[in-house]
Amino acid sequence: MIEFINVNKTYPNGVTALSNVNLEIEQGEFVAIIGLSGAGKSTLIRCINRMHEINEGTLNVDGVNVSQLKGKQVRAFRRKIGMIFQSFNLVTRTTVLNNVLVSSVPELSFWRKTLGLFPKDKKVAALEALDKVGILDKAYNRVDQLSGGQQQRVALARTLAQNPSIILADEPVASLDPVTAKVVMDDFKRINQEMDMSILINIHHVELALEYADRVIGVRKGEIVYDGKSEDVTQDVLNNIYGSITEVPHMDDPEEAEV
Ligand code: ADP
Repeated sequence: MIEFINVNKTYPNGVTALSNVNLEIEQGEFVAIIGLSGAGKSTLIRCINRMHEINEGTLNVDGVNVSQLKGKQVRAFRRKIGMIFQSFNLVTRTTVLNNVLVSSVPELSFWRKTLGLFPKDKKVAALEALDKVGILDKAYNRVDQLSGGQQQRVALARTLAQNPSIILADEPVASLDPVTAKVVMDDFKRINQEMDMSILINIHHVELALEYADRVIGVRKGEIVYDGKSEDVTQDVLNNIYGSITEVPHMDDPEEAEV
């Protein structure tokens, strides 16, 4: 379980990104975080794996107070939490399989990694992860030969090979076309259902959030202004999250929310 208790986050420049956040997210939930650009969505998910530090309150993951972890503990903790970014963060000049393996065998020496000498069981796990996201046939392709959607699926496979209990995804489909975005969202949904992984997605497109997530968290100016089932999200709820006169961003208007 992920638990925020009265969490505040203010950046060194004085910007308050999270204000008195209280949340409980159970294992296996599929949660979409929505809100305008700058609302605090990314900060919210990045505090969970300590990419950002909270200033006040308590943040527990599976009963562990994450602020109290130090050095090696932070690295071990982060391995239990997969992170997916909008920009995929892959090494494009090497193979799909190597990208998945490098993160699943972090303790391997540099020269073994360079020569591609990975333990057999890790290779099997990496190939299984690629199979789960439907790109096993691309295992020996270079990443830069793949489409954006395929690259995001490699990033997802790389995360799965870590065997995390939680996946945090920061705008994972923002740079994909609408059809490909749905293919990637289908992967997230399947993984959530089949593997009981908690998935928290910070997402720009409201209709994707409502279609795929079971629970929606609406953030406005660092505050949670909605937390409930996606089927209970009404136009009034959206107006409250996005501001009453702001149009809700749609998939074919990716720039809308930047206004
Ligand atoms: P969102 O993901 O909803 O677009 P963010 O969490 O990225 O929102 O940002 C919330 C607020 O915090 C914004 O005002 C943003 O400018 C500010 N912010 C985000 N990251 C930093 C940072 N590293 N340093 C200073 N301010 C930041």
